[in-house]
Amino acid sequence: MATLLDGRKVNAEIIAELKPRVAALAAQGRPPGLAVVLVGNDPGSEIYVRNKVKTCESLGIFSEKITPPDTITTAGLLELIGCLNQRPEIDGILVQMPLPAQVDSRRILLAIDPAKDVDGFHPYNTGLLVANAPGPRPCTPAGIMELLRRYEIPIAGQRAVVVGRSDIVGKPMALMLLHQHATVTVCHSKTRNLVDECRRADILVGAIGRAAFLGEDAIREGAVVIDVGMNRVTARAEAARILRDDPAGLANFDKKGHLLTGDIDPVAAGRKASFYTPVPGGVGPLTIAMLMVNTVASAEQRAA
Ligand code: NDP
Repeated sequence: MATLLDGRKVNAEIIAELKPRVAALAAQGRPPGLAVVLVGNDPGSEIYVRNKVKTCESLGIFSEKITPPDTITTAGLLELIGCLNQRPEIDGILVQMPLPAQVDSRRILLAIDPAKDVDGFHPYNTGLLVANAPGPRPCTPAGIMELLRRYEIPIAGQRAVVVGRSDIVGKPMALMLLHQHATVTVCHSKTRNLVDECRRADILVGAIGRAAFLGEDAIREGAVVIDVGMNRVTARAEAARILRDDPAGLANFDKKGHLLTGDIDPVAAGRKASFYTPVPGGVGPLTIAMLMVNTVASAEQRAA
């Protein structure tokens, strides 16, 4: 039976550690400030933003939610970012993705002052990551590294396989594991023999976006399994397959009308892994904790 890596517990620890740092900044003059830009009203994005703002409030971080209409142009959003870059009380700027099709997302990310880039997505900060130099790191992989550290899971010399190569999760995850001396393989949709690659992993990270896509045969006995995926399953038959017809799980599905599941078969991970992150309650809470860490660190640097 695998030991669960409890993201909620680690989130609470990180938040508790940040409180005195936020209080010290407030005592010095002002608390850290985070601006969250949410374009339009995508319900999923609204939930993410609400959680971020709530966490700021619980910590005493000043937060400002800016909600331009979904008709906004690239120029309009660039002007808004320019204003936020100038405002001294704003230490972090987060633009919730995805942006509407008419907006050039790349130009928007480039326009954010790298010193206020608390998502760690600006190419300048990507360069710092590649060079293993200090700087804000993308929150999800940074949170995973923090989880591994706090559970004292060894990384050096381990064979790590990251499935997914996005700029926000897969690529930075691979670099962070590499910097901690893992031997890293990155897989993606064109990888041949994906299952064989995964089965070699001492540390397997799934960041794909497909419900319970990696199954029993992809998990090595005793592997550490990190599931980044957040997939909403609405078909009952698929939920039943993932839950192996577990009556309690299916009753929950019937109540909610959906199942939130990761990229890795949870039953197989529970059976074969030594440690694994549940979905929900694994990686998700760490992403938000690391956003707070990046915001506080930015405020400390700007105050110094
Ligand atoms: P992207 O869609 O940007 O990237 C998905 C990656 O998976 C791509 O590299 C893609 O390969 C690869 N992939 C897709 N299909 C396959 C396949 N059949 N075999 C192998 N690889 C495949 O997703 P993100 O990285 O943004 O997110 C991944 C998941 O993590 C999503 O479920 C997302 O919701 C979740 N997520 C969770 C967060 C959290 O806080 N818990 C935060 C961020 C994301 P290719 O490049 O070849 O197309």
